[in-house]
Amino acid sequence: MNTPPRFLFIDINRRCNLQCQHCLYWKKDDSDRKNYLSIEQRNGIIAEFSAISHGKGTVVICGGESMLDREQYFAVAKHCARHKLGCYSVINGSNVQREEMAELMIMEGPTAITVSLNSHNEEIHDRTRGVKGSHRMAVNALRLLLAARARMASTKKIYAMAVICEQNYRTLEEFYDFVLNDIKADKLKLNFLQPTFGPENPNFIDHFYADNIIKEPDELEIILNKCNLKYRLNLNPSWLAAVRMYHCSVHGNNNALLGWRGGKGTEQHICNSYERNIMVNLYGYARLCFSPKFPAYKLAKPGDLQHFWETSDMLRAQMKKCNAYCGISHSVRGESATLAS
Ligand code: SF4
Repeated sequence: MNTPPRFLFIDINRRCNLQCQHCLYWKKDDSDRKNYLSIEQRNGIIAEFSAISHGKGTVVICGGESMLDREQYFAVAKHCARHKLGCYSVINGSNVQREEMAELMIMEGPTAITVSLNSHNEEIHDRTRGVKGSHRMAVNALRLLLAARARMASTKKIYAMAVICEQNYRTLEEFYDFVLNDIKADKLKLNFLQPTFGPENPNFIDHFYADNIIKEPDELEIILNKCNLKYRLNLNPSWLAAVRMYHCSVHGNNNALLGWRGGKGTEQHICNSYERNIMVNLYGYARLCFSPKFPAYKLAKPGDLQHFWETSDMLRAQMKKCNAYCGISHSVRGESATLAS
């Protein structure tokens, strides 16, 4: 008997207004929107998820930059609130540039809001996110959201999250100081660089991943331990070991240029997506992780989400043997970065 799913990741668009170096979603558009799930269909899936998670699950709004489609974005957040489900969202901050929008996010938006921020250093953030001024917008969004939360006496969580790579890990100590003591966000979450997302070309050569995956896992470990002590992060030793193993595996395999095509993955299996997550794409196909290498199941009628969750044990058995590089990702890793305090 499977335990209930904990997270429903639901796509609402696939375009973006930044040009992040680790992702090619900004090259896509939503020209096929007429074939996407409607708000009503998405609401039906959320209601079914509420039932099979016994009202204890969390919905994660996914894109692209999901806030570019505000009607769909707030529809998901509102429907989650109706079902008393958690609702998480990672945004780039560009759509939260005024007090009114920050207040709307606190009143009617997700229950936890994470803003992507790659560094305290403006130049590093703007370079890795591909658009000048994106650091200013991300920091402004965080400050506006935190101020709105204080004014409205809300308990919503406001986080920053970074993609950590060669360009920013050496200054993590200053970065933590900026996020926790200057901006005063609730947490800085770390997501380690994985192969580039979304290339169309099957022979894509992943120069960004090869050039920017952290080259010195020993130095990374020292820096993380230093930050752990200084900022009392309560980092999980098993996650720290997985982070080290991930970087050593990529270097040992010497296949970073192949990106997702590199057959050899991490030395150990570190993901548990299939035990807790359901990912539903724009067309209503469900998976147990984001990877297209595992089959998807079309949700055509009420009851299909539950059927998919309860009848996928053979798929789970295959996924348990998968060591792809996404295993370290924030959304699928088996170990949390921090221990419960
Ligand atoms: S490691 Fe494998 S099973 Fe886990 S998320 Fe990546 S592709 Fe899916």
